[in-house]
Amino acid sequence: MRRRCLQGIEAISALRQARPTSRVADPLELLRQCLPGIAAAAAAEDEDGAFPTSSLAALDEAGLLAAPLRRVLGGHGWGIEAAGAGPLAQALRLLGRASLPLGRLYEGHVNALRLMQRFGTPAQAAAAARDAAAGHLFAVWNTEAPGEPPLSIGPEARLLGRKVLCSGAGHATRALVTARDGDRPPQMLLLPLAPGERADLSVWTAQGMRASATGAMAFTGMPVEPEMHIGSPGDYLRQPDFSAGAWRFAAVHCGGAEAVLAALRDHLRRTGRGGDANQAARLGQAAIAAETARLWVEQAATRAEAPAPGAEAAAYANLARLAVERAALDILEAAQRSVGLAAFLRPNLLERLCRDLATYLRQPGPDRALAEGAAYLLAAEAEPGDLWHPPSAP
Ligand SMILES: Cc1cc2nc3c(=O)[nH]c(=O)nc-3n(C[C@H](O)[C@H](O)[C@H](O)COP(=O)(O)OP(=O)(O)OC[C@H]3O[C@@H](n4cnc5c(N)ncnc54)[C@H](O)[C@@H]3O)c2cc1C
Repeated sequence: MRRRCLQGIEAISALRQARPTSRVADPLELLRQCLPGIAAAAAAEDEDGAFPTSSLAALDEAGLLAAPLRRVLGGHGWGIEAAGAGPLAQALRLLGRASLPLGRLYEGHVNALRLMQRFGTPAQAAAAARDAAAGHLFAVWNTEAPGEPPLSIGPEARLLGRKVLCSGAGHATRALVTARDGDRPPQMLLLPLAPGERADLSVWTAQGMRASATGAMAFTGMPVEPEMHIGSPGDYLRQPDFSAGAWRFAAVHCGGAEAVLAALRDHLRRTGRGGDANQAARLGQAAIAAETARLWVEQAATRAEAPAPGAEAAAYANLARLAVERAALDILEAAQRSVGLAAFLRPNLLERLCRDLATYLRQPGPDRALAEGAAYLLAAEAEPGDLWHPPSAP
């Protein structure tokens, strides 16, 4: 195991030396070259408080930290221009396959850069572009600690309070947080941070996603400068963007489920049990679930990243994230049932993959997402069968 990990990190180091050419190359192609190294490193990083430092550096070298910028800002438009939907969906899925913690961190980076470019001033967007190109990891931290007042801008324009479940805590050096200013809706602030500053990772005791550095960030006392304000109060929650953006985490989940499916197939090949009718049936059902998830993700991505998405994009993404969650849960069940106890024993690869996926599948408000998707269907005039595809479509 250790040798495999070292080989992976060596592969990443080799890629880092390719820096001069990587900036002009296709980041998706470069990402594919990094994947074996990232997957090997993920095994070694499955520890409390760990962080995928070398894999993130490889993403930077491959141009992925800058890819979510508009093309005029030096990026590839991933997650911000319609043409970037397909490549980003693939990148998120591939990352999820290789390492769910890294996929989570990258998804947050993409989300933050999208918000900066959608709601920041041209000068703020340009500064974010320079920072991303220089290798800064961005994050979006919105989750409040249960039972505590939300993060707010207090007297003398200083922050009061903290955020919890912040991925990349202590590592992300550009954090887009939501904070209250009086009784107005949440205001986005872009906070520059030094590595390690204000982070507490001791609270992240989850069974999986250990290397995502998901912790609490204490912001009390931090001064808020006027130029840190991004957009207006309420922009963060603006629809359909807010709900439609769920396609991105669903894409990472989809990749995680594909990794479980691959490990299940390897097990059946290795043990010679794949010809058994029951095992074959479960493998087939898992393959159906994985492809279902991928199709939902690709459709949701195209709709969310269209030039002027409407309420349909949000409703579709609400349903897509749940379709992907259902597919992933079915694949987890099929793998654990088919492999048996070995799937729960370290260092079996499936043990970690299942832990990471089960943990990362927990996303906010799944019941609400389903209810909102259903409400859209209930109110729509179109036949349900024509709702997403007009009758004129092939
Ligand atoms: C690995 C990981 C990394 C994360 N990183 C970040 C990050 O970087 N930034 C960030 O902001 N957040 C982050 N989060 C937090 C994430 O966005 C969610 O807030 C969190 O996962 C919520 O999970 P939950 O299951 O407790 O959700 P909940 O929304 O609390 O859902 C739990 C259950 O309660 C139901 N429910 C929800 N609301 C109600 C209600 N009012 N009444 C009745 N039932 C209700 C839901 O439908 C569900 O069945 C991360 C989470 C994970 C797992």
